[in-house]
Amino acid sequence: MRITIVGAGIVGLATAHALLDEGHAVTLVDPGGKTGRPTDGNAGWIAHTDIMPLASPKVWRNLPRWLTDPLGPLSIRPGYLPALAPWLLRFVQASSPGRIAASMEAIRSINAEALPAWRALLDSLSLSGHLREKGLLTVWRDRGAFTASAELFDRQRAYGIAVEALGPEDVARLEPALNNVGAAVLYPEMCHVSDPAVLAADLLRLALARGAVHVAAQAVAVTFSDNAVHVRTDGEAADLVADRVVIAAGIWSRPLAEQLGDRIPLDTERGYNATFPAGTFRLERPVMYEGEGFVTSPLDSGDRVGGAVEFAGIEAPPNHRRTEAVVQRLKRFLPHLDDMRPAKRWMGFRPSIPDSLPVIGPASADRRIVYAFGHGHHGLTQAAVTAGMAAALISGRPGPVSPKPFTAQRFSR
Ligand SMILES: Cc1cc2nc3c(=O)[nH]c(=O)nc-3n(C[C@H](O)[C@H](O)[C@H](O)COP(=O)(O)OP(=O)(O)OC[C@H]3O[C@@H](n4cnc5c(N)ncnc54)[C@H](O)[C@@H]3O)c2cc1C
Repeated sequence: MRITIVGAGIVGLATAHALLDEGHAVTLVDPGGKTGRPTDGNAGWIAHTDIMPLASPKVWRNLPRWLTDPLGPLSIRPGYLPALAPWLLRFVQASSPGRIAASMEAIRSINAEALPAWRALLDSLSLSGHLREKGLLTVWRDRGAFTASAELFDRQRAYGIAVEALGPEDVARLEPALNNVGAAVLYPEMCHVSDPAVLAADLLRLALARGAVHVAAQAVAVTFSDNAVHVRTDGEAADLVADRVVIAAGIWSRPLAEQLGDRIPLDTERGYNATFPAGTFRLERPVMYEGEGFVTSPLDSGDRVGGAVEFAGIEAPPNHRRTEAVVQRLKRFLPHLDDMRPAKRWMGFRPSIPDSLPVIGPASADRRIVYAFGHGHHGLTQAAVTAGMAAALISGRPGPVSPKPFTAQRFSR
């Protein structure tokens, strides 16, 4: 089949390879150069062990403290509140114990296949060198907050996820540079990638080498007739005709889905990070600083600290005082950073759905159009498994994961 993929971010690129594997003729439409494309600036984690939706008791517990600090781990720009209201309402609905359990089970189902799917994709392209298998260290300053997470560890273990509680001497042995750690656990199976932007560039290069075509233009509309699906663009190739279309344009997917009659509560959790020269942090592996709203990653291109969630839409300029605040908070754990300044600061748009589940499934208007967007905090993690699911939906066969919890139609009920 002729298949057009709208968006060549990490999800669109992984999907291109899954479709090329099945012998389809693939066209990727992407203008390139979008500011804040999260594919390039994320933390690089394959976080398949992270199964908790954002609408979790932990977030509600911390919310009053976070919201009173405009530079804290989660903030909402007051002017953006009216636009965000429908998303927030869905978020509240997604926070009931039953809905949290359902989201957690769906995240578990997709995350369980996430790493095998990445291994298969990277192996098939001789890109396995991008995968780093160093585990993830999660640390707490306060033992009380750590104790409150005991139930989560039990659930993770029940799902077969390895969680190792560590004593102070273990932490000192694993990561001697870390200070002020009251408690810690190790997720030994968690992985990260060399650098997300380099991985994406390699996936694009190899997709083109395998015969995919890249149209450097913006898709402005997706329409359909009996015989074909059309992607209208603002470029020279103004009408791309295909048998199937995949919409994988991250946060920018919302208007395209809306034109097709699907009102998806897709908004952006803006995230910030700072990258220092490689080796600055003196940390061997990714670290999650629980309750602090940031993480660190040792990437080939530098040591990255980032995270934080800001609701302010896609138009407002970045507020890098948030980045500075994250760097200041990191210094409590890594005092040797003193007055060091990052080489690079960045803000990007997580494409987020209130129940923390991506949208993977056919458009209501026509089953020949498949959605693959809204992966929030887990777009890198879930890209390869999403690709397998999208390819299966297009071929009309069962995929690696049941797509039921991820359908776009869950919002019209
Ligand atoms: C600070 C931060 C840290 C993160 N860390 C992690 C992590 O460690 N692990 C993890 O799994 N996830 C992480 N994420 C989330 C992850 O980065 C995203 O979920 C993921 O990048 C989404 O990928 P995507 O391909 O769906 O969208 P995008 O990366 O947004 O790509 C969408 C593509 O669509 C193109 N596009 C947009 N509009 C159009 C149009 N109209 N026509 C054609 N093309 C179009 C854009 O140019 C872009 O290339 C993080 C995010 C942030 C912000």
